[in-house]
Amino acid sequence: MITLKSDTSGIVFDIKKFAIHDGPGIRTTVFFKGCPLKCEWCHNPESQKHEIEHILKNPIDSLHNDNSYEQIGKKIRSLDLIDEIKKDVLFYDESDGGVTFSGGDPLSQHEFLKSCLQLCKENEIHTALDTAGYLSWSKLKEIIPLVDLVLYDLKFVDEPKHKKYTGVSNKLILENLSNLSAMNKAVWIRIPIIPTLNDTEDEIHQMINFISRLNNIGSIDLLPFHKIGKNKYQRLNLPYKMENFFEPSLDRMEELKRKFETLNIPVKIGG
Ligand code: SF4
Repeated sequence: MITLKSDTSGIVFDIKKFAIHDGPGIRTTVFFKGCPLKCEWCHNPESQKHEIEHILKNPIDSLHNDNSYEQIGKKIRSLDLIDEIKKDVLFYDESDGGVTFSGGDPLSQHEFLKSCLQLCKENEIHTALDTAGYLSWSKLKEIIPLVDLVLYDLKFVDEPKHKKYTGVSNKLILENLSNLSAMNKAVWIRIPIIPTLNDTEDEIHQMINFISRLNNIGSIDLLPFHKIGKNKYQRLNLPYKMENFFEPSLDRMEELKRKFETLNIPVKIGG
């Protein structure tokens, strides 16, 4: 039974149906707008600001008429969102899938997220949360019981590097990950591999060491850096700082995969 108390509004910028890389089975992935981090390699820079934005469809277009702008984000009630999610419930049931809340970072709209998760639970839909984990534990621990699986980003263990390349300290992020492990929550770790930034011997060693102390890590996904989002920086009139970085080769990704496999946790390239 859905209670109106569960209804709030939030801003999402995309809803992807039939997603197969955002958790188990066939899923609907809902992208929340807003993220407290500013990773230099972010391929969804349009997700970072919390508010609705209008960005150029084509930066070459100098006329700037109304049609040359695209709206990023729309306000939606959680009850309307759950109606959209429920349309594919047969596919979730057939494939052991469900819904994944992603972003941006869904924790940046944690009250709206909580409302959506409650509605999913009332409708018996499997829930995954794709997050960078930057929220106080007192707020996060209220959300976690409504989540079946956490897809948790790990970018650096080294704090100064984390701060330099994402804009925030990783202290809270690592603490939250340890807390999730201590409560035996199902977690899949996702690591973006950014050559020369976080794939150094030292950083990989620190990551493996950190993960070795955690329980209940179901898988590790290694996500190779790519430049697919580059054009969006131009459209947003933002500097693109990754011009001189190269995508890691498959050989390099396989080499890193073997290193993480020493943890006896399934490791995938891509996610
Ligand atoms: S956490 Fe994800 S969405 Fe947020 S800035 Fe980093 S890459 Fe972008």
